Amino acid sequence: MSGVSAVFLDRDGVLNRRPADHCYVAKIEDLQLLPGVAQGIRELRRGGFTPIVVSNQRGVSLGELDMRTLREIEAELKATGADVEAFYYCTHDLGDRCDCRKPLPGLLLSAASEWGLSLPDSLLIGDSESDIEAGIAAGCHTIRVASGPTRTRAEYTASDLRGAAHLAVARWGTAQPP
Ligand SMILES: [Mg+2]
Ligand SMILES: [Zn+2]
Repeated sequence: MSGVSAVFLDRDGVLNRRPADHCYVAKIEDLQLLPGVAQGIRELRRGGFTPIVVSNQRGVSLGELDMRTLREIEAELKATGADVEAFYYCTHDLGDRCDCRKPLPGLLLSAASEWGLSLPDSLLIGDSESDIEAGIAAGCHTIRVASGPTRTRAEYTASDLRGAAHLAVARWGTAQPP
């Protein structure tokens, strides 16, 4: 293998309950971790994947929250067992023409160059089709988290992160030396 394998994780709807459309997790109290997240991430790590969050947080450019809040949320996620290695955000607005707002792959490409990742050995787990598009554009494997049947370009679907982790490790994982 030519580099580190990552699992790119969308945040809202994968690690924590997804806020309503056009709403943001703007303070710690808004953060509700989904069941099985700590176990799912542990299993992914054991399967050889470095967990990296890639999240659109347009609320920052809208003034709904700031980077300090995002860092506090990271700390809270880690404290509740979501053992994530790094967090990447697009904080731009829709009209900013950035290259990092998913479905564009900029966040994944930045992480890949900073962490020496092998993108074909990496995967993305997301609950929106824009996540899946970003994963495909970066040349990664993809799993869509969905509560029911969904039209998707993802290679697989799973009902939650734990299910996605099982699948990913069975399909693409590497045994870690004891
Ligand atoms: Mg999401
Ligand atoms: Zn951006």
